[in-house]
Amino acid sequence: MTVYLVGAGPGDGDLLTLRAARLISEADVVVHDRLVSSTVLEHRRGDARVIDVGKGVGDHERQSAINALLVRLATQYEKVVRLKGGDPFLFGRGGEEVNALREAGITYEVVPGVSSALAAPLAAGVPVTHRGVSRGVVVVSGSARDGGASELRDVAALGLTIVILMGAATRHEIVRQLLAGGLSPSTPCACVERAYSPDQRTTYGPVSELATWSLRAPVVIVVGEVATFARGTHRAEAGALS
Ligand code: SAH
Repeated sequence: MTVYLVGAGPGDGDLLTLRAARLISEADVVVHDRLVSSTVLEHRRGDARVIDVGKGVGDHERQSAINALLVRLATQYEKVVRLKGGDPFLFGRGGEEVNALREAGITYEVVPGVSSALAAPLAAGVPVTHRGVSRGVVVVSGSARDGGASELRDVAALGLTIVILMGAATRHEIVRQLLAGGLSPSTPCACVERAYSPDQRTTYGPVSELATWSLRAPVVIVVGEVATFARGTHRAEAGALS
């Protein structure tokens, strides 16, 4: 009857909002992505149906299949919870799912979540803004599908903190665009892998070295002077500090 598009936060089950936890515990069916951790799913009812839509077929195909699935489940169940990593409206394709539900005339509600764009830098000790250092933050997708962060060339000149999601695979291009936009190669950078998981790892150093670090998704990349706040570290202690 109702589909709830719920932000699952960046990982840990206790970084859910109270509303998210309540909705998960009431749901007849929970549909979730790859990035949603098992500690989040623990909030579900024992008899709830759980559907993992995080794997398989091509991206476009998968999204339309998910849209159709949500519409179908809404006709079968009272409460459908669609869990999305972080916040549902930040690179979560939540808008597309809302459109599909609207078109089908299905009642829905969107519940915000703690986004990795802010929480992953914080997990590494980086405040994305800081008085006298950075007056703002720009969040950009590094995904090749979104143009491989081509807008970074323009963003580089703003003097703001830059947070890049989905950028692990396009690091080389990210650095190229930033430097082409006039960013100094010595600008501090921090990469936070698997924030709020037991194997969270952060790598610090100058942005010029970003492409040489070995990183595994999911990663949030933070570029800007604020990255020096990470554990008081400035330059790379080359590679990983865990
Ligand atoms: N809606 C999500 C983002 C989805 S895009 C949110 O608000 O957080 C997926 C990207 O999010 C990943 O490629 C990675 O850049 C980032 N991400 C999500 N969870 C993360 C985590 N626990 N640690 C590091 N990066 C994460």
